[in-house]
Amino acid sequence: MSADTKNQDSLPQVTTVAYGFNGSYGLLMAFLPVLVYYLWICNDYYGGSLVVPTSWAELREFFGHVAAPTWKAAAIYGGWFGFQLLLQVFAPGKWVKGAELDDGKRLDYKMNGWFSWWATLAVAAGLVLTGALPATILYGEFAPLLTVVNIFSFAFSGYLYLHGKLWPQGEKIRGQFFYDYFMGTSLNPRIGPVDWKLFCEARPGLILWVLINFSIAAKQYSMIGTVTTPMILVCAFQFWYILDYYYHEEAILSTWDIRHERFGFMLAWGDLAWLPFTYVFQAMYLLHHPFELSLWGVMGLVTLNMIGYTIFRGANIQKHRFRKDPERPIMGRPAEYIKTARGPLLLTSGWWGMARHINYCGDLIMALTWCMCTGFNHIVPYFYIIYFSILLIHRERRDNAFCAAKYGKDWEAYQAKVPYRIFPYIY
Ligand code: NDP
Repeated sequence: MSADTKNQDSLPQVTTVAYGFNGSYGLLMAFLPVLVYYLWICNDYYGGSLVVPTSWAELREFFGHVAAPTWKAAAIYGGWFGFQLLLQVFAPGKWVKGAELDDGKRLDYKMNGWFSWWATLAVAAGLVLTGALPATILYGEFAPLLTVVNIFSFAFSGYLYLHGKLWPQGEKIRGQFFYDYFMGTSLNPRIGPVDWKLFCEARPGLILWVLINFSIAAKQYSMIGTVTTPMILVCAFQFWYILDYYYHEEAILSTWDIRHERFGFMLAWGDLAWLPFTYVFQAMYLLHHPFELSLWGVMGLVTLNMIGYTIFRGANIQKHRFRKDPERPIMGRPAEYIKTARGPLLLTSGWWGMARHINYCGDLIMALTWCMCTGFNHIVPYFYIIYFSILLIHRERRDNAFCAAKYGKDWEAYQAKVPYRIFPYIY
């Protein structure tokens, strides 16, 4: 046994931390779906302003836009989820080992996202071009689909809750229903070849986001006979973000979610309902506010998006490659790092020498760019950057607390060497 392994054994096991949620799980689960409905209605029916209904009649009128589930929406979503599942199981792709988990295990994952992404786009294009489905269907069915996906996500989270209880894999389950349902009871629930967490993070929600955007753009074309430049930019930036994700699909295996986060309502509802139905708010806003941008405006937005993308992708791929091969040069120089008592190395040069979550900085710059494509008149299309800043600041704190517990003095040394959390010299 090496000295490192001995040290590792003497360190306590660290499991996921619910930093800052402070027991508000039940409330969050009640509040979040209502928030999605509220913002969508403000965006789609009230021009993107935050509306405050001041009487029962106004409240009824406002929430009257919420749709009951329909068989049609259920069939669309069932077909969609099933199709993605079939691709996950049968589409070609290499099997790779995931990053080492806290218990030392490495799981096998099938990386067939790149194929599945293009196959899905080809099938969607085929359905639209042959006239089997109208291009505007996802926008047209948005309201009942949202309800169907909410119901499905709650039910699916119930299944995930039971999964960890029935087939425990060594995770410590707290035994408080709301906490366990919200945070999950299992780190990597799986059935046969399907890893539910990777599947939900990577497939039905992400691709649906892009397809809803396209459907909204098609709706704009049907309404005004053209697709405006801001709409093209938003669709193109977000298309690129997802395309890039699939191109670097393996990088997800070293992310916090996959390695440390249990799979419960928080991630499942977030992946399936929140992401595809709120990340489309910029496109939805632009549908109701068509305008054109100057050439300078377009160039400015494209440049800003490229800066964000370079930081985001550069940082994520750098960490991923470093963890696979610490000898690989970082920006042309030998990597600098801290060797932790637990074993893993903490990179302290390159992007990771500038801030401890410089990858979040790049993601936030891109998020801001997407919102700026909508102009500066309303708040709802800026919801994404507001929410995403809160999410990533909170996430960084959680990750920091987790790493501090996991690495102890080594993390203190890392913090001393890289003092900024997300934005170099600012935060
Ligand atoms: P990271 O990929 O940054 O992973 C954090 C983990 O990396 C830590 O827990 C630690 O794990 C390890 N680590 C931390 N510092 C170092 C270092 N210096 N050297 C080597 N390893 C280190 O976190 P996320 O999973 O949160 O983010 C991944 C990407 O996903 C980000 O770009 C983020 O912006 C994006 N994202 C996007 C979302 C969206 O909705 N669009 C939502 C959430 C994230 P350990 O040491 O245990 O391996």
